[in-house]
Amino acid sequence: MCGIVGYIGFREAYPILIKGLRRLEYRGYDSAGIALIDNNEELSVYKAKGRVSDLEESVKDKDINGTIGIAHTRWATHGEPSNANAHPHYSQSETIALIHNGIIENHAVLKTQLEEKGYKFQSSTDTEVLVQFIEYIKSLNNCDLFSAVQIALKQVVGAYAIAIIEKGNPDQIIAARKSSPLVIGIGEGEFFLGSDASPIIEYTNRVIYLNDEEIALIKRNEEPKIFTISNVEITHEIKELEMNLSELERGGFPHYMLKEIFEQPETLKNCMSGRINVEGTHITLSGIIDFKEKFINARRIIIIACGTSWHAGLIGEYLFEEFCRVPVEVEYASEFRYRNPVIYKDDVVIAISQSGETADSLAAIESARKAGAFVYGVCNVIGSSIPRNTDSGSYTHCGHEIGVASTKAFTAQVTVLTMMALAIAKEKGTVNNERYLSIIKELQNIPAKIKTILSHNDKIKELSLIFTYAQNFIYLGRGYSYPIALEGALKLKEISYIHAEGYPSAEMKHGPIALIDNEMPVVAIATNNTIYEKVVSNVQEIKARKGRIIAIINEGDEGIKELADHYIEVPSTLECLDPLLSCIPLQLLAYHIAVNKNRDVDMPRNLAKSVTVE
Ligand code: GLU
Repeated sequence: MCGIVGYIGFREAYPILIKGLRRLEYRGYDSAGIALIDNNEELSVYKAKGRVSDLEESVKDKDINGTIGIAHTRWATHGEPSNANAHPHYSQSETIALIHNGIIENHAVLKTQLEEKGYKFQSSTDTEVLVQFIEYIKSLNNCDLFSAVQIALKQVVGAYAIAIIEKGNPDQIIAARKSSPLVIGIGEGEFFLGSDASPIIEYTNRVIYLNDEEIALIKRNEEPKIFTISNVEITHEIKELEMNLSELERGGFPHYMLKEIFEQPETLKNCMSGRINVEGTHITLSGIIDFKEKFINARRIIIIACGTSWHAGLIGEYLFEEFCRVPVEVEYASEFRYRNPVIYKDDVVIAISQSGETADSLAAIESARKAGAFVYGVCNVIGSSIPRNTDSGSYTHCGHEIGVASTKAFTAQVTVLTMMALAIAKEKGTVNNERYLSIIKELQNIPAKIKTILSHNDKIKELSLIFTYAQNFIYLGRGYSYPIALEGALKLKEISYIHAEGYPSAEMKHGPIALIDNEMPVVAIATNNTIYEKVVSNVQEIKARKGRIIAIINEGDEGIKELADHYIEVPSTLECLDPLLSCIPLQLLAYHIAVNKNRDVDMPRNLAKSVTVE
C-alpha cells in the first residue's frame, strides 16, 4: 500500500514529487505529505489529510524550493488518517524526515523504550517510532545516518519500504526495503525513487529493484551504493523498464476502470501473443517448458491468492481439474500462511497476484518453498517481488492496471490459467487433440466477443439506473460461472459500497433464499452450459419469490428472457471460456452503479491497489 516518491538531481523536486504522488495515488490515498531540503540545507515537511490535491492546496504559500525531496501518499494501518499521522514523520530534533510503506510490528516495545528516554510522539503511527528510533541510535552510537539506519533496521520486526532525508545534508537520500517494494530510477545526473516504476518512467527507463533487507545510499552525482543491513555491499544489475507513459494516462475515458474494462480485447490479445502459435495449433508458455516434469508429476496443485486473484484461482481449479485431472486446492494466502498446511515436495503451488507484491501471497510462497514445493507465479507487474521469489512463472501482460478494482488483470489471469491448463494437459495426455485445438481456436475469438459485449455498454448503463439505490445484491452462478458470481459481487461492493454476495445458484435453498423479496436484485449468470437446465430452475425459484432478476444470457436465448426482469446478452462460447465473457457485463454494471452513486470509482474508500501489508 502507500506510494513513495523520491528525487535528487538538478531539477526542482516539488513538481516531480507531486506528479509522482498523483501516479501513485491509487496505492493509498487517505493523506499525503512531502519533505524537501532547500538551498540553505533547511528541511521542511508539509502534509495534509486527504488527497494529493489537498496537499497541493496546503502548500500554496509555502517555500517549496529544493532539488531533493521525498513524498508519500498513505494508506493508514496505525492511526486514523489525519495531518499528524500523515508522512513524512520528523525525528524528535526535526533533523530527519522519513516516509514508510508497511508495518513496524515491534513499534509498541520500541516506543515504550523511547518514551522512557524522554522521546515525545506527535502521531499514533508505527512509522514515527521508526524515525525516532533511528535518531536515538544515531546519537547513541555517534554515527552517521546511514549506519544508524542499518543498526536500527536490524532491530526492527515487520515490513518496510522507507526513504529518509536529513537537514544539512542536501546530497543524499537513504532508502531501504523489506517485504514492501522499492525501485530506484537512474537518470543522467538525477535519481528517482518509487514504490513502483510509475512515477519514474517519465524520466528514465533504467531502474534498480531493491531486495529485502537492502539499504541504498543515493548521493547526488554518484552511482547509488547498495548494502545489506549487515553492511555487505551488493552490485545490482540495472533493468530496462518496458512500461510506457501512455499506459498511465486515462486516454479520454472518465475513469481508469472504464478504460481498463475497454482495453480487455487488446490486453487478452497481448496475453496470448507469442504463446499461441500463428497457426493457432499450439500453446507454449516459456515458464512451463523447463519445468514440465514438475507439472506432469504434480501430486496436487495449490493455488494461493487474495481478492479478485483468488476468484481467478477458483476458475483455475475448474480448469486444472477438468483438463489435467489433478486435484486442486484454492487457498486464501492469508489463511494458508498461518495454518500450518500440509505441503508435499511434489505439490505445485501457483501464486496469483496482479501487483506481484501482495504481502500475504509472498509469505505463503515462502512457506511453500520451505516445504520444498515448486512455486509458480502468475503476476502482472514485471520485476515485482513474486516473480523474483518463485521458481518460474507467467506474466499476464495486460499493462499497468490503475483502477483499484481489478478488471483487465482478472481476465488476463484467467487467460494465463487457461493456457497453463491446456499446455499441461497436452503434455500429460489428459486432453484429446480435437478438444485442445477447439479451445485454442475459441480462445482467440474471445477478444472479438468481448468487443461485442462492450458495444452493449449503453444498455448496461441504462439498466444500472434502475438498481442504483438497491441496498443489497445477490449474484448467482454454477460451474465455471460460480467464481464469476463471486467476482461480480466483489466488484459491486468495492466501488459502489452496496452490500453484495455471490453464491453457487443451488446453495440458495440452503439458506440465502430467505433474503429474497421483491426488493432484492439477483444477477443470475445463465449462459448455456452443461447444467443450464438446472440454472434455469434456480432462476425459477428466485422468480417464485418475487426476486428482481437480471440475467446474463447467451444471445438469442428466448426462454430466460421471458423469465428475467432484465437481461444482458453475451455471445456464446465454450463452457470453460465463458468466465472471460460473463464477467464483462458485471464489471460494467458495477462501474455504472458506482458512477450513478457518485463514488470515487478509481479510488474507492478504505482500499488500495497493491496490498503490501498483511
Ligand atoms: N504503517 C504506516 C502508517 O500507518 C504506513 C502505512 C502505509 O503503508 O501507507 O502510517
